[in-house]
Amino acid sequence: MSFRGYLIIVLCMLGVGAVAQSPAEYNNRGIEAYDAGNFDFAITWFERALTQAPENATVRRNLCNARQGAADVLAQSGDFASAVTHLERAIAADPANPSPLVQMGAYYLRLDMVSQAIRRLEEAIELKPGHLDAHELLGEAYYRDNDLPWARAQWEYVLRMDPKRPGLRERYDKAFREESIESGFKKTDSSHFRLTGPKDLPHHVRNRIIRLLEDAYREIGRKFGGVYPPGPIQVILYGADQFSEATQLDDHVGAVYDGKIRAPMTDKDGQWLPEDELRRRLAHEYVHVVVRFLAGENVPWWLNEGLAETFSGDFTPAMAETLRAARAAGALFSLAELAPSQLRARNPEALRIAYLQAHLTVRHLWDRFGQRRLRDMMSALASGTPAEQALRENYRRTYDTLLREVLEQIN
Ligand SMILES: [Zn+2]
Repeated sequence: MSFRGYLIIVLCMLGVGAVAQSPAEYNNRGIEAYDAGNFDFAITWFERALTQAPENATVRRNLCNARQGAADVLAQSGDFASAVTHLERAIAADPANPSPLVQMGAYYLRLDMVSQAIRRLEEAIELKPGHLDAHELLGEAYYRDNDLPWARAQWEYVLRMDPKRPGLRERYDKAFREESIESGFKKTDSSHFRLTGPKDLPHHVRNRIIRLLEDAYREIGRKFGGVYPPGPIQVILYGADQFSEATQLDDHVGAVYDGKIRAPMTDKDGQWLPEDELRRRLAHEYVHVVVRFLAGENVPWWLNEGLAETFSGDFTPAMAETLRAARAAGALFSLAELAPSQLRARNPEALRIAYLQAHLTVRHLWDRFGQRRLRDMMSALASGTPAEQALRENYRRTYDTLLREVLEQIN
């Protein structure tokens, strides 16, 4: 959704045109600047108008819109913290306007600050009950908070008012399916995670998982140069059957991150997974938490999965052997083929090759260039730089030259 507002052009109450530098003139200059996309200038002019006419509702609304526009530009470049600062001032300028509150709720969700998002969205709905964007985002916030019945209530309302809401029916059905499986589950909080799992999950298993997650939080945060997303990070634990029922994913999927870490605790025969396997899977998914926190959806598949594999396990000689065989069979991918943020469905063997290539590629970049380059690469992606351009600027490689260099590792 877009948050650019429409300015109120006519300012008749202030139309004392003959006097130079009147509030109306400042306001008009602000409108010109706004129309030209110069939000910072627009803010300056509207603020000058307000110093002379502090109670004028039209100027206040215009100032609010200009600050929302400035916030929008900052958010598109990935600078959500500065965007939020603008919005706080937009809300102060025009406190009866729900629009900046909704925009702020969306940014807080992007920052994983779920309880702040809930507060702002509830304020927006208080100002304007039935604001569908606010209700939809509030549903998303409750969903992220793993409060499924409340999420469902919000989304049901939105779907009743607007049954064709893009994408919402699918999200609603997914939440409903999860709710039916997780209804008897029990919640446990650790320092940074909220675990939801079967009531009969033994205490020692729950504790072990908390320990593995908190280790991942510390160690992986350090690898990224000190990146620690705000909690609680939601983790849903299942038995193997519950996992496939809730996620509708194939057997070969070991765990998943879809905004929440979802992981089975058992194999298909109901046996607990060994600790090393649990550690690997949870660390892998936790890397996705950090990657999304840093750069949202702007990260190519090969980098996201390659980081998750590199920071959760070794690249073994057997893996190199599999890749050599794939190369001999002409079954390797170009990095461009592995670039979309989600890989379209492939058969399990092809998927395995794709993961190994991503792993070897990122392992190579990490071993050779380390943390600072990775941080710069992630910042470039966060600000919307296309992936291959970000690679060229930060690692001086194209997809083709990088692939050639990486494959030399397995000669
Ligand atoms: Zn993954």
